[in-house]
Amino acid sequence: MHNQLQELKRTFIQGLSALKTRKDLELFYNEFLGRKGLIQQLMQDLKAVPDDQKPLLGKEINDLKSFAEKTFKEASDQIDVELQNKRLQTEKIDLTLPGRLPLIGGKHPVLAMLDKAVDILISMGFSVQLAPDVESDYHNFESLNYPPDHPARDMQDTFYITQDLLLRTHNTSIQMRMMEASQPPIRVICPGKCFRNEEINARSHVFFHQIDALYIDKDVSLKDLISTIEEFFKKLIGSDLSMRVRGSYFPFVEPGIEIDFSCLLCKGSGCSVCKQSGWLEVAGAGMVHPEVLKNGGLDCELYTGYAWGMGIERLAMLQYGINDIRLFTQNDLRFLRQFS
Ligand SMILES: [Zn+2]
Repeated sequence: MHNQLQELKRTFIQGLSALKTRKDLELFYNEFLGRKGLIQQLMQDLKAVPDDQKPLLGKEINDLKSFAEKTFKEASDQIDVELQNKRLQTEKIDLTLPGRLPLIGGKHPVLAMLDKAVDILISMGFSVQLAPDVESDYHNFESLNYPPDHPARDMQDTFYITQDLLLRTHNTSIQMRMMEASQPPIRVICPGKCFRNEEINARSHVFFHQIDALYIDKDVSLKDLISTIEEFFKKLIGSDLSMRVRGSYFPFVEPGIEIDFSCLLCKGSGCSVCKQSGWLEVAGAGMVHPEVLKNGGLDCELYTGYAWGMGIERLAMLQYGINDIRLFTQNDLRFLRQFS
């Protein structure tokens, strides 16, 4: 039995040096030191040896057991350290790296311009009214003095959904809806999208944003219109700019005018954006046409009104010196982050 003990010790030492994982350790422990392991088996075998040999062999078995437990514990600790080191290497953290800043979004430049314009108009006494994007031909054209086959309809290429339904080509469609729903004084703005069946290029797109303003009451005059527009644009784009008014034509106003402001970029001295003229067109306007008032059920002898509309993308382009309207809808973060 003495030789058997020596042999077991050698096998134990050899086996221990080959262990690498926790699973190896567990299996090895059970084989040698478990309740049914080889060393426990020796204790059982001890019962069969002659009594005079029992004390010596018993001591040898106990010594082997202590030795095995001690060396197993050391090997196990060593393997734990190696496994830990390996894990730390794969999960290495560089504490000197700069932290990651959370990305904070900002308003889209078109929305920022729209919100700013709406806020100013609210402060000037207008209330906000919304109208549907999908509009009837009547509200978008016919009631606004564009009779069928009128050549003015060619001014705005239209997306028709059915013969009578279309995507509104201008927010001026709010006019008839307001006159149908309420009585003067009417003092509203309608912000939102409108749609044109046009070729997409740097200057035009199939959809863009407009704000239309409408004021109907007794004794509303062209002078009121011009002074209101001047006050609004000076608040929106700068009080140091000058304004000029030119005659123009829109079917739903009489007279029609167009509003120019001195160029935001060159302040009137001439640049490529204003085509060296020093002036930029910012809005179309006019006095509500008597036919339109009649269509809205109003007495055009008693009431007068003014209306004006402006494209928000165009204003944002002028304000920020952007030369391509397509940039607004390309979702290029390099472009958008400049405004956040
Ligand atoms: Zn200019």
